[in-house]
Amino acid sequence: MRGDSATKILVVDDEPLNVELMEIYLSPDYEIISAYGGVEGLEKVATENVDLILLDIMMPDVSGFEVCESLKADPRYQLIPIIMVTALSGKDDKIRSIEAGADDFLSKPVDRLELATRVRSLLRIRQLNDRLVQQRDQAQNYLDVAGVILVVVDKSQNITLINKKGCDILGGSEDEILGKNWFDTFLPEGHVESSKAIFFSLLDGDSNTYEYTETAIRTLGGGERLISWHHVLIWDEEGKNTSILSSGEDVTERRSAEAALKRYAEELEHSNELKDLFIDIIRHDLMNPAGSVKGFTDILLKRGNFEGENLKMLHAIKRANAKLIDMIDSAAAFAKVESVSQVKLNTMDLGVVLRNVVHSLGPQLKEAGIEVSLPQDGVYPASVDSMIEEVFFNLLSNAVKYSPENTRITVEMEDIGSGWKVMVLDQGFGISDEDKALVFDRFKRLDKGGIKGTGLGLAIVKRIVDLHGGKVGLSDNPYEKGSMFWVTLNKA
Ligand code: ATP
Ligand code: MG
Repeated sequence: MRGDSATKILVVDDEPLNVELMEIYLSPDYEIISAYGGVEGLEKVATENVDLILLDIMMPDVSGFEVCESLKADPRYQLIPIIMVTALSGKDDKIRSIEAGADDFLSKPVDRLELATRVRSLLRIRQLNDRLVQQRDQAQNYLDVAGVILVVVDKSQNITLINKKGCDILGGSEDEILGKNWFDTFLPEGHVESSKAIFFSLLDGDSNTYEYTETAIRTLGGGERLISWHHVLIWDEEGKNTSILSSGEDVTERRSAEAALKRYAEELEHSNELKDLFIDIIRHDLMNPAGSVKGFTDILLKRGNFEGENLKMLHAIKRANAKLIDMIDSAAAFAKVESVSQVKLNTMDLGVVLRNVVHSLGPQLKEAGIEVSLPQDGVYPASVDSMIEEVFFNLLSNAVKYSPENTRITVEMEDIGSGWKVMVLDQGFGISDEDKALVFDRFKRLDKGGIKGTGLGLAIVKRIVDLHGGKVGLSDNPYEKGSMFWVTLNKA
């Protein structure tokens, strides 16, 4: 309704003099629309957007009662206040007016003051009503934009409010849902009784136990959804709890994703067990027979009963078997670091670790006439797992394997703030630029030049350093021909 100046009052009367009189009484305060019969009156209602109607009863075409009835039955117009103007002071007309849905009546001849008072009070009521409707609509809007189901269930288990999200999930319109028994309509068989029990405990005030629940619901389409609920009691003016407001979040997808994740974790655990089993098989069931072959071949060679072709064949067996043992060793080591997902960090001095590795490589170094220079007397405390020894063992043994005899390997340390950079420089064959990116891949071996290996060593190095959150890399030796492999590790 607009402001007072533009408030429109429709006067319907077949007697032009009556219309004119009303106009004189009301026109200073309101805009008057006139109609001289029931049909015209209905037309004006449809076109003029009126705020109040003064309606004569006795009209030749359509009676005031009929006009009133048809307006009150139409949701578009039923809130427009109607004052019936009765010619007679007859009781019957007043009763019929009430039955037709009129809001008030006045008797002719109309008293000016009475008219003004009735009109004003009805307009005021209309205004208040408009405001209420507006607030209700706004509240409904809030409920509807909520991303959760909002449902109110009263003491007799019937649904008295449902928002749009609720309608969407339950699979029906508001009309199909309101007034239904919540439990009998929307809970899957087998859950009805337990849910009712919780409902009545909540009504009894036991909100601590059941403030949050999770239940399956059955939609009108027959589907099932899993809903996580929060329940709140609603009290009336007298302080009696009358119903429960529940807000529910559809967690069907989330729960099934969680279940899938759990299954996946279990499978993963199972596959780790398989991997452990595989490592055991490699170690014991393959290594033992390979060990026997080695032992017997050595005995046969020592006895010296073989010569010519036979001796050659025996040496071939020994070489092939040595390669087999080497591969079993690396495969087991790689499978082991692959299955590890966490490192146990201790403080270790990298200088000490390097000295141990060089010591264990003693025989190979001696055979090749290669010397290793380690950084002199520094301490390099790092936060590492004992597996780290494997990293330096691989880098140094590669440097030995892929360098000519009588060369030198140099290990340098650099302080990079939060960590150490360990660099292994050799005077070996070097690695071409296109191969540099490949050597850390599993089973990647470059031109081997008759040097044995499985191509797993650097993959193991990378895996272990990754587990430590460090980096690995390689470049050409910056000072002379050869390679430089480096790793970074966190300081302790
Ligand atoms: P193993 O599993 O026994 O260590 P491998 O030494 O062949 O076998 P990696 O250590 O992964 O395997 O090395 C991969 C390849 O990178 C080697 O085959 C070799 O060609 C090359 N390579 C590694 N280190 C060096 C180095 N210091 N100088 C030159 N080439 C190297
Ligand atoms: Mg190697």
